[in-house]
Amino acid sequence: MPVLVVGSVALDSVETPFGKREEILGGSATYFSMAASFFSPVRVVAVVGEDFPDAHLTMLTNRGVDLSGLVKRPGRTFRWKGRYTAQQLNEAQTLDTQLNVFEQFEPELPEPYRATPFVFLGNIDPVLQAKVLDQVAKPMLVAADTMNFWIRGKLDDLKKTLSRVDLLFVNDAEARELAGESNVVRAVRRIMDLGPKTVAVKRGEYGALLFHGEKVFSAPAFPLADVYDPTGAGDSFAGGFMGYLARCGVVTDEHLRRATIMGSVMASFAVEGFSMDRVKLLTEPEINTRFGSFRALTQFEELSPGPLRQAG
Ligand code: AMP
Repeated sequence: MPVLVVGSVALDSVETPFGKREEILGGSATYFSMAASFFSPVRVVAVVGEDFPDAHLTMLTNRGVDLSGLVKRPGRTFRWKGRYTAQQLNEAQTLDTQLNVFEQFEPELPEPYRATPFVFLGNIDPVLQAKVLDQVAKPMLVAADTMNFWIRGKLDDLKKTLSRVDLLFVNDAEARELAGESNVVRAVRRIMDLGPKTVAVKRGEYGALLFHGEKVFSAPAFPLADVYDPTGAGDSFAGGFMGYLARCGVVTDEHLRRATIMGSVMASFAVEGFSMDRVKLLTEPEINTRFGSFRALTQFEELSPGPLRQAG
């Protein structure tokens, strides 16, 4: 089944302990689409400026991503500048955000997009996220992502959007900030009160926790010696997760668990290179092998029989 994504398509300038890159392809919708495209047809709703290189669009179409909902408008493309330090690789320090063409953007879904069963509201103004929801007919699953920029700047609008969302992807610091609660489990409960009954908490190199009603599932992160660029890990996680779920076409506890692992698989590839450098070269056998490695990471036998030692 297809997945619809609204989010940013960006030119990023990024600094990590491995180097510096200027104006590389980024954006929440871009990372999401690349990851999800391995599993399901992807439909993008976004805007770019006149300065956006056509080569980037070609790369996405070559992966089968439907760009009929991506418009080019007069002005400059969305830009984001961020830095990661060796001490703090899990969280970007935002140095600059230029909304540019996103400031005037009014998303309009092409007719065939409106019946898409799986919808992902990528990290973008919550008002725009809601405008996309207004145009889709009864999706099977509505998921969303957000970040501190919108939690701080548009909290009321974000809460309105969240009341219409089934699944929220959020990193742990943002979950705490959104809920005003320092314990992650309690923060998730408060977020569930706002709407989403499933919450995926991304914890960078510590993996992810999936809260689904009363149930909790924990996925590790793939232990990597070299994290080149953490940008896009969250959106690639969401892309792998949603793409996999849409491919299955059902949302059960068991599918959500496997989706969490597939999200972790795609995030682990995304951080192995700057921008889409690694993911654009990815093959199916590589994805399957890493999925297997994730199983092996947490597989262990039952406790051997025999009583434990008694006190005294
Ligand atoms: P993440 O997966 O969380 O690392 O998201 C990475 C992408 O989010 C980057 O490629 C940025 O272009 C994009 N981004 C950063 N800030 C914003 C924002 N305020 N709104 C929309 N997209 C953003």
